[in-house]
Amino acid sequence: MNSASLEATSLFEKVAAHATTFRTSVGDRPQRPQITYQEALKTFEALTPETGTPADLVLSDLVTRASPGLHAMTGPRFFGWVIGASHPVGVAADWLTSVWGQNAGNHTAAPAAAAVETIAARWLLDLLDLPRQASVGFVTGATVANLVCLAAARGEVLKQVGWDVEAKGLFGAPPISVLLGEEAHATVFSALQFLGLGHDRVISVKADEAGKMIPSSLSEALRNCTGPVIVIMQAGQVNTGAFDSFRDLIPLARAHGAWIHVDGAFGLWARACAEKAGLAEAMDDADSWATDGHKWLQTPYDCGYAIVRDAEAHRRAMTISASYLPSVSEGERDPSHFVPELSRRARGFATWAMIKHLGREGIGAMVERHCRLARRIADGLASEPGLTVVNEVVLNQILVRFGTNASPEIGDDLTLRTIRRIQTDGTCFMGGAQWRGRWVMRISVISALTTEEDANQTIEAVLRIWRAVQEEHGVQKTD
Ligand SMILES: *Cc1c(COP(=O)(O)O)cnc(C)c1O
Repeated sequence: MNSASLEATSLFEKVAAHATTFRTSVGDRPQRPQITYQEALKTFEALTPETGTPADLVLSDLVTRASPGLHAMTGPRFFGWVIGASHPVGVAADWLTSVWGQNAGNHTAAPAAAAVETIAARWLLDLLDLPRQASVGFVTGATVANLVCLAAARGEVLKQVGWDVEAKGLFGAPPISVLLGEEAHATVFSALQFLGLGHDRVISVKADEAGKMIPSSLSEALRNCTGPVIVIMQAGQVNTGAFDSFRDLIPLARAHGAWIHVDGAFGLWARACAEKAGLAEAMDDADSWATDGHKWLQTPYDCGYAIVRDAEAHRRAMTISASYLPSVSEGERDPSHFVPELSRRARGFATWAMIKHLGREGIGAMVERHCRLARRIADGLASEPGLTVVNEVVLNQILVRFGTNASPEIGDDLTLRTIRRIQTDGTCFMGGAQWRGRWVMRISVISALTTEEDANQTIEAVLRIWRAVQEEHGVQKTD
């Protein structure tokens, strides 16, 4: 072996050994970083290197400096922010993706990467039971999936009134009305912002207690719309896990000739689970859907899917053409035609590997297990005095409010204190959010590693800490 090969061998073996240690011990370490961002900055602080450093040293130095600032996001009791834990099979396939170094732009240059996307796309449509002729773009996550789907929506609704937005842009175009529920995810607004549709010029439709769009409010809002319309619905509200009632809402939007988009970053996966599919009933009647691989499918970052019923509208919105790029042979799918990027990693490999590993059965069972564990945690907490499970736990999301019988301000304070104590304790990790104007603690059960034992430990930790917070602050426990 020459010296370059020896160096590569040594590096890859060391990284594999580190990976094994890190991933097998993540459940035993505190489910939080050991240091803050400011402390992490100090550990990396250095002048721009003028000279190089041997490969082995670079890697060991990186591990040493990064380790204390790594969050246990792949841990079994990490319940923050609806984040999937990245399954070892997805990680391994993702390693190969980097090792193979394929530029997944087009099928002529990267036949295997393009083919695996074509097949994984077909599997995704089948698992999620969406129109089989729909196109799928492999993007970085649901944020960009929302962007891509809404770009297709923008192009198509304007095309129908004789305006070519891809060629002429938005200046002088007929205005588009964009309607969405008042509890839509923040990233939908950023997609609208990127697309020149504005995050403030949307028409906000009233939502109910669970965050679901109210059908009569959508009807009323639609009545005032003239011209092109896009309606954005939601499968899995990021706080409550609630689903818009597609069966009621989609026909209303259809009757108005609207493009219907669904943000289903994690919730779309309910369709892959027999017990939960009812929540997303009739959702396949929409025009486009955004979802993530790096949430419920447990692929590593970054991985999301932009799914569009009308493949032509999808392609028109995203196509790049240049004389030096291989021309498209009739009927062939080029990965770059459905995403904003030309050069990018071959995300299809990890998607293919996760679906192959879990199968339809395994994916359904995992979603079902997470929802069951969420129910178990909610039930384990709900009987404790002074604490309320705020939402109806329909999926994997639980909202907890502490200091229920205190004034709203003291309740906010107790909730935030309890969250901080839980985070410091490190048995489990959850974050806070404002829901309907008040602070709540959010628990998202979405890691492939989470077991019943983890759910029990979590209940125990939350109750222990809540009792300690009450002791400390003299809150009456009798109510
Ligand atoms: C996570 C999430 C997003 C954003 O997805 P990213 O993968 O972070 O880009 C959008 N919508 C909902 C409902 C989400 O939960």
